[in-house]
Amino acid sequence: MRALIVTEPGGPEMVHLEQRDIPEPAAGEVLVRMRCAALNHLDLWVRRGLSGASYPAIQGADGSGVVERCGDGVTGLEPGQAVCFDPSLGCGRCEFCLRGEHSLCVDFKLLGEGRDGTCAEYVVLPWPNVHPVPDGMSFEEAAAFPLTFITAWRMLVTRAGARPGETVLIHGIGGGVACAALTLCRAMGLRAIVTSSSGEKLGRAADLGAWKGIDYTACDNVAREVRRITGGRGVDLVLDNVGAATWKSSLHALRKGGRLVTCGATSGPSPRTDIARIFWNQLSILGSTMGSRGEFRDMLAFVRRAGLRPVIDRVFPLEEGRQAQEYLEAGKQFGKVVLKISG
Ligand code: ZN
Repeated sequence: MRALIVTEPGGPEMVHLEQRDIPEPAAGEVLVRMRCAALNHLDLWVRRGLSGASYPAIQGADGSGVVERCGDGVTGLEPGQAVCFDPSLGCGRCEFCLRGEHSLCVDFKLLGEGRDGTCAEYVVLPWPNVHPVPDGMSFEEAAAFPLTFITAWRMLVTRAGARPGETVLIHGIGGGVACAALTLCRAMGLRAIVTSSSGEKLGRAADLGAWKGIDYTACDNVAREVRRITGGRGVDLVLDNVGAATWKSSLHALRKGGRLVTCGATSGPSPRTDIARIFWNQLSILGSTMGSRGEFRDMLAFVRRAGLRPVIDRVFPLEEGRQAQEYLEAGKQFGKVVLKISG
């Protein structure tokens, strides 16, 4: 089979298409013939050597395909079924896995990091990670939603306990998690204020249901603009995966007793902070990473019920995996970058 492989950590030139043997499913595993994969920033970190992956590595945490064969002991799945994947891999043995908190696992990894990923013609996965594709969803869409939607779901639902009618600030609309968060916010009845440096992206976000948009290149103080929009009160909730560049405005945009949920730090991990503001305004700072198996099932049921779809920016063929990574790295996309593998 053909597989997109990082031979060793480095730049895009380390990404190659290679021939590999088709893997065999062991007991409790499922062999899937892949139709699509979707890229995440995780793939860039794995390529640059900033994750726990060993090399050579088959990339990809997100994907969709058709069940080819099931190992012994697999229930609820059969050959020919269209499936997508929960990308979280817990050890299954630590105290957190045993109480169903897989993303707190002491040895937590993701597909494409802890084991061979989705950018190949076949992949073998533990059966609890394999789920039927929601009705009417294309293979491109089924590959594009799991990682970002489970990330946004845990941030909004589990960590922040978001309630209908609350106001949310989402930084950097256009990124995968930001787009997933906006889609979920709208479906849950939350009002989303989004930021971007691109008027075009703000226009796309308005079409997706954003309540307000802020062009941060045209305003010198995002938090002040958020306060103006909210009548001086501030937002109930901020979702921040930008980090150093947005931390201060995140703290200053929150109402008294507001919650800041962080799931990443693409602009750097060590901002100046404002402890007085945190205690005086009684803010909650909440970290979040991926989600548990139970949360994934809840998110999938919600996506199904609400008929949600991910935003897809562009589809590349598998053989242009390197170009697709370069495109993601340039940050011009609005939504997900997908690789078409077959079909
Ligand atoms: Zn564990």
